[in-house]
Amino acid sequence: MSTWLITHPACLEHDTGPGHPERRARLEAIEQALDDPAFATLTRVQAPLAPENAIARLHERDYIAHIDATIPARGRASLNADTVVSPGSGLAARYAAGAGIKAIDALHSGEAQRVFCAVRPPGHHAEPNESMGFCLYNNAAISAFHAREQHGYQRVAVVDFDVHHGNGTQTMLADEPGYLYISLHQHPLFPGTGTRADNRPGNIINLPLAEGTSSADYRQQFHGEAIAELVAFDPDLIIISAGFDAAAADPLAGLTLESDDFGWITDELVAVANYCCAGKICSLLEGGYDLGALGAGVACHVAALMR
Ligand SMILES: [Zn+2]
Repeated sequence: MSTWLITHPACLEHDTGPGHPERRARLEAIEQALDDPAFATLTRVQAPLAPENAIARLHERDYIAHIDATIPARGRASLNADTVVSPGSGLAARYAAGAGIKAIDALHSGEAQRVFCAVRPPGHHAEPNESMGFCLYNNAAISAFHAREQHGYQRVAVVDFDVHHGNGTQTMLADEPGYLYISLHQHPLFPGTGTRADNRPGNIINLPLAEGTSSADYRQQFHGEAIAELVAFDPDLIIISAGFDAAAADPLAGLTLESDDFGWITDELVAVANYCCAGKICSLLEGGYDLGALGAGVACHVAALMR
């Protein structure tokens, strides 16, 4: 069984400026955490650029052009209050999306059974025509559509354990046959969406959690509701929006998970993947802003993917 780690040095060159939580040090913390003999058997692969058409399948061409036009030749510019771009951001975003596409291709060919994409900028807040919450292109949704439309997968599930609701992914997958989106997230919290009122049976499953929810309660909801919905959907591919900002130490949210919880969550998803879809999982990095918790959480996540 082969587990891949896909990244690209260009993802370090998306410079969000001093004091911004979504910073290059996040990827450096992940590299450091995975630079350990326990991860020596990971197959390390460089991401390709995402084809323009794969991005344009989910984002309006005017939006892509707007991002390109906003990216400055020097310094930084803002797409909105919290989403900053620098000269390296365009390539970083295209390699981040390309990592997911490469992952899906490798899962489909059988070269890989599981893949973790250590990429930034993240994606799950990106709407078809709007950047949001540090996200430019919706890497998870782009990967999901690539799997169904280029490789013929029939039932693609996206499971999002980032502490924030993936509003963009929900927008892109809602009412689309053959896709399931499951999100566990703190609510109320940015971006404010993701109540159970948005849920659509077999398509959109939001499981909002109150600030301070314990690890035990989180696990109960994850196993009892998220996993039950996932098994009922019977996916032939599982994509994970892997955010590590539900960690107790994270400065942007108020959940209480520890690194072993991320290992447990991943074990649960691996068990479903082994049962439903020959173990195939593509995991994409989303948030996680405490560097220590991020590195430790990713290490537990990837270790579980390798089991
Ligand atoms: Zn987040």
